[in-house]
Amino acid sequence: MTAKRTVPYAISGAGTGTTPTKTRTAATRTPPAGPSAKQGDVPPADMSPLIDGLLDAAWLVEPQTLRVLAANAQAAALMGIDVPSLCRTDALALAATPQDVAFWEAARSGVMDVADVQTVLSGSDGKLVPVLRRVTRINPGALSDSRHGVYLVVMRDRGPELRAQAELEERLSELRATLDSTTDGILVLDLDGRIVNFNPRFAALWELPEALLAERDDAAVAAWMLRRVADPVTYSKRLQGLAESSALEGTDLLTLRNGRVFERRTLPQRNRGQTIGRVFAFRDVTESHAESHRSPPSSSNDALTGLPSRQLVADRLDYALALAQREGIAFALLHLNLDRFKPINEALGPAAGDRLLVEVARRLTTTSRQVDTVSRLGDDEFLMLLHQADMQRAEGAARRVVEALQAPFVVDGVNLTVTASIGIALYPGDGNTPEELLHAADAAMVDMKAAGGGGFRLHHQRAGATVVTLRTRMKLDQSMRQALAAGRFRLHYQPQVDLKSGEIVGAEALIRWRDPELGDVSPTEFISVAERSGFIVAIGAWVLQQAVQQAAVWRAQGRQLLMSINVSALQFQQADFVDSVARALAEAGLEPQWLELELTESILVQDAQEALHRLQALAELGVKLAIDDFGTGYSSLAYLKRFPISRLKIDRSFIKGLPEDEVDVGIVNAIVNLGKALHLDMVAEGVETEAQRVFMLKTGCTQYQGGLCAPALDALSFDALLDRGPDFEQDLPDTGDWIESSS
Ligand code: C2E
Ligand code: MG
Ligand code: MG
Repeated sequence: MTAKRTVPYAISGAGTGTTPTKTRTAATRTPPAGPSAKQGDVPPADMSPLIDGLLDAAWLVEPQTLRVLAANAQAAALMGIDVPSLCRTDALALAATPQDVAFWEAARSGVMDVADVQTVLSGSDGKLVPVLRRVTRINPGALSDSRHGVYLVVMRDRGPELRAQAELEERLSELRATLDSTTDGILVLDLDGRIVNFNPRFAALWELPEALLAERDDAAVAAWMLRRVADPVTYSKRLQGLAESSALEGTDLLTLRNGRVFERRTLPQRNRGQTIGRVFAFRDVTESHAESHRSPPSSSNDALTGLPSRQLVADRLDYALALAQREGIAFALLHLNLDRFKPINEALGPAAGDRLLVEVARRLTTTSRQVDTVSRLGDDEFLMLLHQADMQRAEGAARRVVEALQAPFVVDGVNLTVTASIGIALYPGDGNTPEELLHAADAAMVDMKAAGGGGFRLHHQRAGATVVTLRTRMKLDQSMRQALAAGRFRLHYQPQVDLKSGEIVGAEALIRWRDPELGDVSPTEFISVAERSGFIVAIGAWVLQQAVQQAAVWRAQGRQLLMSINVSALQFQQADFVDSVARALAEAGLEPQWLELELTESILVQDAQEALHRLQALAELGVKLAIDDFGTGYSSLAYLKRFPISRLKIDRSFIKGLPEDEVDVGIVNAIVNLGKALHLDMVAEGVETEAQRVFMLKTGCTQYQGGLCAPALDALSFDALLDRGPDFEQDLPDTGDWIESSS
């Protein structure tokens, strides 16, 4: 008969604390021991000679009781627990992850896989000890009283390896920080011309669009750079030369189409004497270059056309933006680039080209109002700044420009047709800084050109433009601040259901944000941004106050509902956090036992002593405490015992595969057993099917939340659901939302 694996223990993939380093080599099963084989009752023979000679840390474990029968000195040193104390404990007490608990419970029932596993043990004082571990069954013969042998557990300390790794990462991040802080733009290519690395300054100098940065498409970046330089032919030739002679180094100047001048230093990148790539350092030397080449003394006007210069329009743009932000006035930027100017210039000669540009400048000026600025950025690039212009006005102006250019140009007796590509950026909407707005107008212009030229395009009409440019971290943070001020956040409530009675016993408050520009933004996306920027503290305060008020409303209606809110680490660590909870309760007049705070495992592990203090203060206040997403982080079981926790929320990643997935079955059982042993309530998260609900009910878990009952609903829909009673499964209101979180 072949052995059947009921509870595997080695799990790969994200979110689990235990990772196998080898595939399983064998699965063996020993029949469970009969009643006479109660090993725990018999004092074990001294088996320490079996392991004392090993170089690695080792214990022997009794298969039925999981008692540690012997441990060597290396094991004592590794765990920080002396040998006699180790021998008074059992393997379960030393486990620190639900996966390990599942493993040992399986081992106790006779199911044992042999594999090397990276895991974490709970050492002295609950200290986490990372190890590589192998468990095998051995038969010590006369030394053991057991007919079924004993488990030999051999462990290697992963601490030094992890510390070395962390040190390396730290050094790399220091290096990266140094690279990031230089004022030069750095680009590193390998010998095949593939991008190995670049710093943010490089991206900024070359005005690389967000989309390119996100994609890391080397060819697209190269094409973008080629498009930006004024003389692509020479630029390409030089690159070709560098590719052919990997040892070349030197410095040259690059002029960009927008008038900027970069100094480019190139160096071979060497490793142990071998050239492995090439480093480019770019520095913007426009000002110093202009200083030494400037012919007309005036810097505020373009020498050729007499139009305001780049510098002047930049100043006016700053002014327009400041005014717009203060007074809420819209304005627009039109970035204009002539189509096919280069061939015309080459055919007629630069003097004729200049005359054409002067005429273009004159016509542009005739289309604009006194208050607007028309400026020349360089070569055949122009920028128009339109005050008090919304989308319609900007489009009107662009149309007038297109019309103004339609009449043929006569240069040196030659009739010419000239068209232009125009990109339009609007404030508000397409950026919050001059750079972002210029960028947006430029990107729209490039799009227009790619579409054949001879027309205009609005930045926000570009495919994916808002998503790509606005959802950057900084933008998201800014938009979030505006959303909070403008009252755009909402709370929705997901029912928590008693598994036995089907009654709704609680609600988890989940934040929702529909932004006029960004649309629905998922909390998984913006909460992490807010956590990094610190804005989570403000959001968290709003959620607390809002949720507590709603809970008070429900209490006033006589409903018995526990309100759960999510608390981020940074919010929890605020010195006045406990006070703020007490204040919110007092203001709403809610009794504390109707509020529950959901904390993550990482909060408890980070600064355990401080966390314990704070949790005790909260518990004294009378609010309940839950651990959210349980099983996805490391929890020291010792901590769990010490903290005044009342509920575990089993992460939905474990519920997903129920009831078929054996790994999930093992973990969920282990978590539920753990919860029972610690007398905790448990909520299964993300229960979507009846089979999952039935499974969870059978394990002895107490509550669930998830799609099977309802998604998070606005307060009115929640009320409607409550009024319908436990028979809610049919036709759910579709006012609820469903934001799939990616984590
Ligand atoms: P969480 O606290 O674990 O919340 C549960 C998440 O699972 C919610 O996603 C919920 O909508 C989703 N969910 C519940 N049942 C099901 C189901 O049956 N199927 C599926 N596919 N999903 C289900 P949501 O609302 O996107 O929230 C994601 C995370 O964002 C939350 O995870 C929480 O960590 C965080 N979050 C949400 N609101 C707040 C808040 O007000 N403050 C803080 N600090 N974090 C919040
Ligand atoms: Mg939660
Ligand atoms: Mg959760």
